[in-house]
Amino acid sequence: MHDKTVAELAQGLRDRQFTSVELTRSFLDRIAALDNRYNSFIGVDEAAALSDAQAADQRLAAGDATALTGIPVAHKDIFCTAGMRTSCGSRMLDNFVPPYDATLIRRFRRAGAVLLGKTNMDEFAMGSSNETSYYGAVRNPWNTDLVPGGSSGGSAAAVAALLAPAATGTDTGGSIRQPAAFCGITGLKPTYGRVSRLGMVAFASSLDQAGPMAHSARDCAVLLNTMAGHDSGDATSSEMPVPDYTVTLDQPLRGLRIGLPQEYFGEGLDVATGARIDAALRELEAQGAMVSEVSLPHSHLTIPAYYVIAPAEASTNLARFDGVRYGYRCPDPVDLHDLYTRTREQGFGDEVKRRILVGTYALSAGYYEAYYKKAQQVRRLIKQDFMRCFEQVDVIAGPTTPGPAFALGAKSDDPIAMYLEDVYTLAVNLAGLPGMSVPAGLVDGSPVGLQLIGRHFDEARLLNVAHRFQQATDWHRRRPADVEGAQ
Ligand code: GLN
Repeated sequence: MHDKTVAELAQGLRDRQFTSVELTRSFLDRIAALDNRYNSFIGVDEAAALSDAQAADQRLAAGDATALTGIPVAHKDIFCTAGMRTSCGSRMLDNFVPPYDATLIRRFRRAGAVLLGKTNMDEFAMGSSNETSYYGAVRNPWNTDLVPGGSSGGSAAAVAALLAPAATGTDTGGSIRQPAAFCGITGLKPTYGRVSRLGMVAFASSLDQAGPMAHSARDCAVLLNTMAGHDSGDATSSEMPVPDYTVTLDQPLRGLRIGLPQEYFGEGLDVATGARIDAALRELEAQGAMVSEVSLPHSHLTIPAYYVIAPAEASTNLARFDGVRYGYRCPDPVDLHDLYTRTREQGFGDEVKRRILVGTYALSAGYYEAYYKKAQQVRRLIKQDFMRCFEQVDVIAGPTTPGPAFALGAKSDDPIAMYLEDVYTLAVNLAGLPGMSVPAGLVDGSPVGLQLIGRHFDEARLLNVAHRFQQATDWHRRRPADVEGAQ
């Protein structure tokens, strides 16, 4: 049961092969028995999940089911859940129980999905390895000595270990795509503004975007159908109509123009990973796609620009955590200044503090023009590079990451090495484009991902390309050898 896709489980529920209560129970039991190996969940409320499932069974019986009714879904612990702790992986929010649901959570509830639990993540979504969580590191189900990627590493590991059929994540610079690649699952970061950010704890507001993480492109399409859409409570949410992402999945790829950015295939890309990406591109060519080289000449500026803009926005967003209104408060403050300093000193971890320092510096009166404004100008150049490519091609493809998952601890003392992990993913967020990672093979037994980048609001096309690829390959069906119950 736990090795099935969302689409298969929905069919099973409709055909009365099992009930949502049975399905939910089986995932809860797996989490209880196996998650001590991976640490992918930080909040599971069994009673609440089973009561969601009971309600879903009633809806199924009444013939009022959606494609997600009765399906257990895990949510990154960055989404506010009414009455259930939302920690964002931080001591600062260890005691925070939101009074309301994020719009994304509300949409899943409305569809009748079961809230299976809240997944572990890098603190405030800052990281690429899921080692900065206050609740401890997450381990990669393919090899527990390796990181699962981050910051949505809990979601990726939970799906890969078959502890949840699907999950949500957020991606500010790669946090859906990179862990999806490292854990051998499919993940989509939609266009900026496609999915509401209301009730999603803010990291860098002009970059943050929520998206689906699942076993297949079809499942991502089913999830995105529920997640996407305008929300009057989020001023940056788009009013563009939402298509049904499942209806175009099977479209043939004949004539599709795919561009390979030369900058994504040079120095820095692991040779074996590059070979898997080449093989994936040959498969797309075999289906009639035309592959050509393109150029993103400002690629070398994406890491510097991102690591000014993201910390700058983070420093302002995180100013709200001051020990006054909610979250952690230091014991026995003697005055207001002491309350602020000790609360923030004790509540935040090292990486978060590093970002606040960098961001505050970049925004300070004397340096704003030199750093923040300059980074915004570079951001425009990066976006223009993509716009120029999309005059020639329909989709851009390349590796999601420079190589497969690395060892726990390997980069935790070297922030620059960690930041380089996102060299192929960051630009997509700076340009606001949709990007996807699709399992493309194994390197030394570890998964690597093919990244697909599309025009604004062209998620349907990415899902279509990924689905056709998955019709012809079985990388997305491979399971980690030591995951119990995998076929
Ligand atoms: N790894 C990047 C960072 O640490 C991206 C994180 C994300 O996408 N949330 O900022």
